[in-house]
Amino acid sequence: MIPNWAAERARMVETQLRRRGIHDERVLRAMEQIPREEFVPTDIRVMAYRDDPIHIGFGQTISQPYMTALMAQELGLTGTETVLDVGAGSGYAAAVLAELAARVVTVEIVPGLARVARANLQRTMRGGRIMVLEGDGSIGAAAFAPFDAISVAAAAPEVPLPLIEQLNDRGRLVIPVGDRTDQELRVVCKQNGRIEYRVATQCRFVPLRGGEGWQ
Ligand code: SAH
Repeated sequence: MIPNWAAERARMVETQLRRRGIHDERVLRAMEQIPREEFVPTDIRVMAYRDDPIHIGFGQTISQPYMTALMAQELGLTGTETVLDVGAGSGYAAAVLAELAARVVTVEIVPGLARVARANLQRTMRGGRIMVLEGDGSIGAAAFAPFDAISVAAAAPEVPLPLIEQLNDRGRLVIPVGDRTDQELRVVCKQNGRIEYRVATQCRFVPLRGGEGWQ
């Protein structure tokens, strides 16, 4: 039997997101519309709406829906922004962000995953406002900077400086900061050149590669 994906999506939005405090209606609507099952490997599609990260190959995962929602909500997008998404993975978070902003540049360090993300986004016809770049996103994407918002889906010991530099004034950046097992999701704001941050939640993401600090 073919699962009723729309019903699964509605249930995910209600139980995993709304009930846990995701209140931005645009985020909720985006996640109710985007076919998450198209962003997970075909043989495990039935797991697409689980309340967990799911393996997508190359030792990487698509983030738990709640994390994708929380990160998008913390960015406070209104529809006019240019967003940098570091760690394209399956392309799902980029699709969500593109629904909320004007355009998204997403960077993926694993070439095979950059191809997967591109294919997933094209198949779901969400490629138009999303550019998938292959490379080390810990140095940002200088050619497309500055960004109004930056979302990083992999954990770093500290916020990489190039990302702060490529953030517009009054821009926001979300990133898991910590060691390999314990991290805090930081929401960094830049205002008049000053950097402030607060912690949204504790979390556990895969490590950010490249740059300085890891491996
Ligand atoms: N946003 C993704 C989640 C992917 S998990 C989704 O919705 O599916 C984090 C991803 O970050 C992995 O694909 C990993 O390969 C990638 N990554 C790790 N370090 C990176 C770096 N320095 N630059 C770009 N991508 C990186």
